[in-house]
Amino acid sequence: MPSPPPAAARGGARPGPGDDALQLIAEGITAIAGWGVAAISVVRDDGQMQVMAVAGNEDARRQLEGSRTPIEGLLAELEKADDWGLLKFVPHERLDLGEGEWGWVPDIEPLDVPDAWHPMDLLVAPLRDHDGTLRGTLSIDLPADGRRPGPDQRRVLETYAEQAARAVLTALEREELAAQVRLADTARRIVRQASGQRSLEHILETSRPALVEGFRALGMWIQTFDEDGLGKGSVYSADGTTVVLPDELVSIAENAARDLWTDQQVTVVAEGRSFGLLTEQQGQQIIDFLASIGVGSILFVPLGAGHECLGNLVLTRPVHAPGWTETEAAAALDVGRDLGGAILNVRAYEREHRLVKQLQELDTYRTQLIATLSHELKNPLTSVLGHLEILESVDGLPGPVRTSLSAMERGARRLGRVVDDLLLLAQVGDPDHPVAARPVDLRTIVEDVVELTAVEAERRHLSVAVLAGADQVLANGDATELDRVVSNLVSNALKYTPEGGHISVSVTSTDDGQVELVCSDEGLGISPEDQEQLFTEFFRSSNPAAVSQPGTGLGLAIVSRIVQRHGGRIVVESELGKGSTFRVFLPSA
Ligand code: ADP
Repeated sequence: MPSPPPAAARGGARPGPGDDALQLIAEGITAIAGWGVAAISVVRDDGQMQVMAVAGNEDARRQLEGSRTPIEGLLAELEKADDWGLLKFVPHERLDLGEGEWGWVPDIEPLDVPDAWHPMDLLVAPLRDHDGTLRGTLSIDLPADGRRPGPDQRRVLETYAEQAARAVLTALEREELAAQVRLADTARRIVRQASGQRSLEHILETSRPALVEGFRALGMWIQTFDEDGLGKGSVYSADGTTVVLPDELVSIAENAARDLWTDQQVTVVAEGRSFGLLTEQQGQQIIDFLASIGVGSILFVPLGAGHECLGNLVLTRPVHAPGWTETEAAAALDVGRDLGGAILNVRAYEREHRLVKQLQELDTYRTQLIATLSHELKNPLTSVLGHLEILESVDGLPGPVRTSLSAMERGARRLGRVVDDLLLLAQVGDPDHPVAARPVDLRTIVEDVVELTAVEAERRHLSVAVLAGADQVLANGDATELDRVVSNLVSNALKYTPEGGHISVSVTSTDDGQVELVCSDEGLGISPEDQEQLFTEFFRSSNPAAVSQPGTGLGLAIVSRIVQRHGGRIVVESELGKGSTFRVFLPSA
């Protein structure tokens, strides 16, 4: 029986022998049809035959099962075979293989008759699919009667050959499916690993092992296209080494990827294959380049999402490695889709990152501008106020001049307050000057602020109640800044509450280790739309009754920045015409 030499490679990545249906057929031939040995092999993608089932002889089984051998040798022998229908017979006289090349040779003496079976006789049924492609073989040896089979025996064997062909096709199909599942799993693993990554380099780093292993590749690289469709994007290798692709190849690859993405196809580029989309010259250019880096073939996969092709993935195999299978091609296209999605994610993240950076720069610039401007305004303003005071102190000024001077002084003081607010806003928004936190008694601050506003409150017949126990309520923060929080909230409550209204301010320690400051009034209230923008700089209400009060729209912006930089939070509850409640939570000391 011709069979692989013992040295032939065993196993492989595919499932090995042990297929039940194939085994049963082989056993049928030995147990029922009366042959000594039967073996069924399948043809692998790499042009090797692998023995899947052996029956009849334990010695033969041990030696043959799982072994692989190139198919060419057998095909050459079959050329010389007698055609017995499904069976092919090569008598030992015609066989070219020498004794040493036999995998397993039965130890028998041929009978001394003209049709005696010789241990080196070859009886094989090539098993073909519907297209006539050879997918496996059934080999039979050792007839029970020691003679070459006659017509009756051949008919029986042909029945087994038909069964074996069906079983081989089923077994291969099942393996193909298993391989598909395995590769799809790889693809999914890649996406899972890659989705958390923020850069393509990282995505490749994490997905490379799975891709190379799953596709039995030598290596891989990825080319991405520029977002704006101009330029050539980048080529990333996954193992840290740079892939230097000639410019011309980069653009051939880009065009090919776009066409393939449209057709939802992958392609193989290898010596001796048709170049498909490529011209003969382009194909040869690629082959030459691949040869220069020790690569025999590539599986070229477009990457994309939706209608957009975003790049390509190239998986490589060395010269003499097995070819790429249909299953691998299909799974690679899936990977192309997954990686395409990942590229889109990376891009979105990078875009967002750029935008945030730009906004931060803009914000820094604005803060600096405000700080510089207010500094520059501060000195001349102080000088203006000083001189106004001197002028106002001159005796005997005519009435209209005095009126003008005092109007000027009021204006200059208001300007001074705006400048002070701007300076403070810049200061509390500056990340380079964090809070110098110490325990601060909020209750004392509240009492001081309320006392300072007592005259104004009395003038407008407003009652202000302070609700606090006798104990200190210690917040962790900066006393001056927290004073500013309380005074801005209380002065707003006074400002936006009509005469005769009631205001209350309370400070308490909460159970969860915070300090709560509440400032409530029965004033104008704030509409829900206005509440959304309340803490934005320069925001003033759309309510005419509120706008009629003097203000800059900076007070609450300062309050919220101070609260934020203290690690606290501020919330507002308000209803138009009913009043407002501002709650500030700060970490306690
Ligand atoms: P300003 O009071 O200088 O205008 P703020 O930042 O302190 O600036 O307040 C912003 C806007 O919020 C005010 O113009 C006002 O319309 C509204 N507002 C603030 N506090 C109250 C309050 N207690 N009652 C009603 N409206 C208020």
